This record gives sequence, C-alpha cells and structure tokens, in this order.
Amino acid sequence: MEAIDLHAEAWGGIRNSYESGRLAHAYIIVGSPRGNALAFAESFLKLLHCESVEKPCNECKNCRLIESHKYVDTLWIEPKSKSRQILADDIRGLIRRMSQTSFDGGWKAAVIVAADCMNSNSENALLKTLEEPPPKSVLLLLTDSPQALLPTIISRCQKIVLSDVQTGAEGELWHAPLMEILGELPPADGLGASRLAGKLKVLLDVVKSEIADAVEEEFGSTDEALDESKLKEILDARTNARLKEVQADVFRIMLDWHRDILILVSKVSDKHLLFPANRSVLAKQANEHTQVSALQAIQRVEDMAMRFNLNIPAAQIFDEAFRKLVIGS
Ligand SMILES: [Zn+2]
Repeated sequence: MEAIDLHAEAWGGIRNSYESGRLAHAYIIVGSPRGNALAFAESFLKLLHCESVEKPCNECKNCRLIESHKYVDTLWIEPKSKSRQILADDIRGLIRRMSQTSFDGGWKAAVIVAADCMNSNSENALLKTLEEPPPKSVLLLLTDSPQALLPTIISRCQKIVLSDVQTGAEGELWHAPLMEILGELPPADGLGASRLAGKLKVLLDVVKSEIADAVEEEFGSTDEALDESKLKEILDARTNARLKEVQADVFRIMLDWHRDILILVSKVSDKHLLFPANRSVLAKQANEHTQVSALQAIQRVEDMAMRFNLNIPAAQIFDEAFRKLVIGS
C-alpha cells in the first residue's frame, strides 16, 4: 500500500493546504526516516512537481526523478555514515541552494532525513532559514525522535504524525506487563506500593535495554574506525530519546486508567471509558474509591510524570507515587 493511502488523514491535510495555496514552509514528519516518513515525503514532493492532472501520478518524468532523489529542485540531506551526524556545513549548503531560484520556476524543497542527527551547530544554522524562509520553498524534516530537536525548531514547523507511530502502544512488549501492574491497583499498603513500584521500575529497565540493543543494531555498525566514546554518546542520546517516548506513553496510559476509574465512580456513561475491555477490573477498583480519592489518584499520576522530567531517580519517584496511591494515605 502507498504511504499516502496508509496515512489518508495526514495526506488529506497536505493536499488541502497545497490546493488552497497555504502550504507551510516547514514540516516535521514523524515516522520512520527510512520507511513511512520517507515515502510520505516523496509523495509530498511529487504533489509539488507532478506533470499530470491527477497528482501524484507516479509515472511522469518528474515523479520518477523525485523517487530516485534526482529531481533538480529538491535536495536530500542525511547523516554522514562516518559520524552519523548531519553537519552544519551540509545545512549551510542546503540553505544556499534553497535561496537560489528554482530551475523550473516552481517549488524548491529540501528533505532532511533523520533530522534528529543534526548537532547543535547544524540546528542553529537551520533556525536562520526557518526564521526567514525563501518564498516558494518547503523544508521537510524526517524523524522518529522529534523530541530530540530544539524546541525552537519544533515550534517553527508544522508537525505531521504518521498514525502507525502514534498508536502502536498495544503492540508493544511492555503493554501487557503494564496493564498487569494497573490491574493490581490500588496498593493495599506501603508494602504493596513498593512491590508495584519495583515492578514498574524493572519493566522500564527492560524496555531501556531493548531499545539500546535496537539502536545499536540500527546505527552502531561502523565500517570505519570511529571514536568509540563519540559513538557511544550518539547511541545513548538516541536510546534516551526513544525511551522518553515510551515513558510518556506509560504515564499517559496510567492517567487514562485512573480517568476510567473516575468515570465509573462518578457513574458517567460507560461509553466514555478508554479501556472498555478492562471494565470489570476497573469497576472492582472503582468500588474502593470515592470521587475525591479517584481525583487524587489522577493528580498523583500527573505529579509522578512531572517529577520524572526532573532529575530524580525513577525508583524513588515510583515508590513515593505508589505509596500515595494507597487509598486514605
Ligand atoms: Zn507525476
């Protein structure tokens, strides 16, 4: 299936903006930088340059040139294989070419593959273009780790999240163990709280080592001698960026779980439940709660997520948070 069929909603938005002449100057496409995000970017560029009435046709000369990344008014940049970084010089070269007029008088475009591999010099160089984009130009940043980009870059781009990245939680290995932990809430006492906190800590440790292995496999194989500490630094940064995403998902699920408890305690219609399949477990837990304690539990999960962004050890955060989830604590 084509990327644009798989992501029909995102594609519809782009098509509308294009047809009404309201394309943004820069987009962050969140997805696999060599998979769905790349395919989506190619379709985007074909839309700008396709010679047929039904765009993109995938068959005209321009569509084919774009697909082989040889179209003259489109620039592709990706990390240098040696350093696995996108260097500031490459960005500056890109900016120069973006400001020249296009060959066919149409759109100029640049695609940065794995944009999170930009170092801070590259990001700062890019910021200047984002502040004053040349007319009729569009910049596409492809990444699976948007949180690794400077906030000032993110704020100047329109974000397109390709759906199979966003809704993958149920398919993740950590999902079932997490639901098991949630099923044991609320803890009966301090001891029970510590036990559940320990389980969550172990789960996230396992997730981290799995992510580290995957990152190592994807980016760690070097054919040339590379400074080992530099490589480790890059791998660690990518691992942490992905881990952060999982952690955000975990907290979101914990929050949604407690919202469901509040819904049941408040006797609001069941149709608002986010975990209808777990209704019987949720109802049992709701029986132990009052509206006040259910609201407090939501607050405490929110606090836990917030403290996680400070530099407090996870074990301590979880232990304290689960103790506060003991009803009447
Ligand atoms: Zn075409």
